[in-house]
Amino acid sequence: MLEINQRRRFFQRIEKELDYAYEKHPGKSWSRHEFHSIVLEEFEEMWDDIKTDKPLDVLLKELVQVAAMCFRYAETGEMGKVIDKPALP
Ligand SMILES: [Mg+2]
Repeated sequence: MLEINQRRRFFQRIEKELDYAYEKHPGKSWSRHEFHSIVLEEFEEMWDDIKTDKPLDVLLKELVQVAAMCFRYAETGEMGKVIDKPALP
């Protein structure tokens, strides 16, 4: 059974990665195509780790990055589509 602290730690890692992403690239929302490209890049890095049988801790770093980019897109909305309201209802 999944330990609840394990889930919390994973979400904390995603949140930390998300904060880092906002620091590195502040502000603007993405278009759908930008979101697709960014997530695909992170996903392909994760896939490379799977194909090369990297240790789980290395794979999880990429998994966190994929998740963080999904959260960022959900939080910032779509460029040109959401103007003055948050993406999440
Ligand atoms: Mg990556």
